[in-house]
Amino acid sequence: MNVAIIGSGLTGSLAAISLANAGCRVDLYERLSDEELINRDRTYAITHSSRKLLQKIGLWSVLVSHLVPFQYLNVIDYELNKKFQFLINDLKTIDQKYAAVGWIAEHKNIMLAILEFISDIDKINKIPTSVIPNTNNYEIIIAADGSTSNTKKKLKTPSFNFNYDQMCITTKVLLRGVKSNEAFEILNSEGPFAVLPLGGDLFQIICSQSIKKGNYNMSLSKSMFLDYLSTILPYGIEPDTIIDEPQSFPINFLINYSFFSGKYIYLGETAHKFHPVGGQGLNLCWRDVDCLSRLISIPLLKNNHSIIPLLYSVSRLIDVISISLFTDILVRYSRSNFNIFLIPRLFIFFVLKKSALTRKFILNIMTNGI
Ligand SMILES: Cc1cc2nc3c(=O)[nH]c(=O)nc-3n(C[C@H](O)[C@H](O)[C@H](O)COP(=O)(O)OP(=O)(O)OC[C@H]3O[C@@H](n4cnc5c(N)ncnc54)[C@H](O)[C@@H]3O)c2cc1C
Repeated sequence: MNVAIIGSGLTGSLAAISLANAGCRVDLYERLSDEELINRDRTYAITHSSRKLLQKIGLWSVLVSHLVPFQYLNVIDYELNKKFQFLINDLKTIDQKYAAVGWIAEHKNIMLAILEFISDIDKINKIPTSVIPNTNNYEIIIAADGSTSNTKKKLKTPSFNFNYDQMCITTKVLLRGVKSNEAFEILNSEGPFAVLPLGGDLFQIICSQSIKKGNYNMSLSKSMFLDYLSTILPYGIEPDTIIDEPQSFPINFLINYSFFSGKYIYLGETAHKFHPVGGQGLNLCWRDVDCLSRLISIPLLKNNHSIIPLLYSVSRLIDVISISLFTDILVRYSRSNFNIFLIPRLFIFFVLKKSALTRKFILNIMTNGI
């Protein structure tokens, strides 16, 4: 089968490898140079669903040295002043042997390794342009050109979207008083924020807050920003030095009404984009890739490829909708600091702290999807 992929971000690149493994000839179109693709300053939480896909396509052994594992995921509710932990024991038995609740990856490292891996695969032809010369050459065309996808605009595929009244600030910082194998998800009335280990004392802060407060914080000098961090970090954790320039980006929610249009299939952020809370974004994009490559590998569908886009769209619906609801509810939960919500919040935290079964259920959804 001949497949075109528009966009060689982390979704498009993984789709190219996965579909080449499934026997397709892949033309991978990208408008940016490799250098531009690599030089993005982002940090991802990697879950077990992504680990499984990477193992299946032979990339795990290449990437694992670039990943920082964490064994504890601390969830703290500042309004309640309560905390519980997800531990390795809360994972499915089969996932426990990897000795990590999850991993943290820096974009530069994994993008470079993935592009090198692609350059050794004969079935992938990289084409440095943004226009497909002849769409009739392909049985399937995959749009992985990101949340502002031109392909989607051209095909007039509608989507449900809105902007959160929040922005996200990310920065790398040296911290004291925290172990290098723990991550934090903190529920704060300003908005949820995460502290992710990058090895040693280095951590990535990904913090969401109102646009007004975010703009103010972005205007602070590094030393003032460090003071601000010391006011929001959990008790006992001290920020030492900011390593990079803090960066900010707006947060929006986007979900397509359909994940295909004719022979075009929407993958990754072209189809859905959520709040960064819970670190689900990239993992959900890679589960799209896994679902599509499973369908394309079914022998019966090789000669009936016109049905693949519809099957893909239906197969992805439940996972994408549940993760979108889960992340959106978490944001609203975090910001609902009215007294009326305190009792349900206390109840939820009590159950999660005391019931291993509930923790296992939630962690399994977060790490393996639905
Ligand atoms: C500023 C920013 C910061 C982020 N930070 C984080 C973070 O800290 N943690 C996290 O988990 N996630 C983060 N994300 C989300 C994360 O980057 C995505 O989940 C991930 O990159 C997967 O996206 P993708 O490959 O689907 O799309 P993209 O990464 O957007 O890739 C789309 C690709 O398509 C190419 N393209 C577009 N149009 C065309 C065309 N016409 N022809 C050819 N190529 C085209 C683009 O050049 C691009 O390379 C961030 C996103 C942004 C925008």
